[in-house]
Amino acid sequence: MRLWILLSLLTLGASPSATAQETATLSERTMDALVHVVAHEIGHAVLREFDLPILGPEEAIADDFATIYVHMTFPERAMAIVAARADQGLADGAETGAFSEYVDDEHRAGRMICVLYGLYPDRYGDLQNRYGMDEDAAASCRDIGPEVLRSWRRVIDNYRMPDGARVTEVRLTGDDIPLTRFIAGSQLGEDAGVMLRAIDWHSQITLSIEACEGSAGWSRNGRIITICDAYIARFEAQLRP
Ligand SMILES: [Zn+2]
Repeated sequence: MRLWILLSLLTLGASPSATAQETATLSERTMDALVHVVAHEIGHAVLREFDLPILGPEEAIADDFATIYVHMTFPERAMAIVAARADQGLADGAETGAFSEYVDDEHRAGRMICVLYGLYPDRYGDLQNRYGMDEDAAASCRDIGPEVLRSWRRVIDNYRMPDGARVTEVRLTGDDIPLTRFIAGSQLGEDAGVMLRAIDWHSQITLSIEACEGSAGWSRNGRIITICDAYIARFEAQLRP
């Protein structure tokens, strides 16, 4: 059974008759980390839907997009969002091989922190001490961050939904599990809707929460961002205070 919810409505709450087994909750840190995950998948979608050149490792490009897009969309919360995602990656600590499309989790986390800190050191300066960034690294990040921000700003501006334009429908859907219902009514569901609706897509984009063992991904076929419940459960185990 599928559950379809318009992200622009988000009216679904827990049923009064729901038992404990039928409810699900996520900590704020898990939801923050997942905002960056959704933004990363939106990065893949932007690259592919608008046929942008892939001038580097696509996973690294999508990570940088996510950090920049979170800063642009939620400037007051970007530090908490990126730190939660970085902490989750450090907790995973996966090391990758020479031919992986990813770099090691520690390096991915460091890049997110570096770019965010560097693009606005006055706002995100706490990250320098929190992650043990020495002055040489901080100077390098202050060099890199504004370049990445400027590069993405120029690209994204071409695809932004104009003010007042009719928004192409974006949907949150998924397997009919408590987690899908929880996310639909949560800050995470709202944040995902804000990020998706800000882009002038050719056609409908769907975010789907599914009962599966994988992680998260963008499927051009159907234009679906999928996040597996097992992936979300892992985040919760790593990040719940
Ligand atoms: Zn990816």
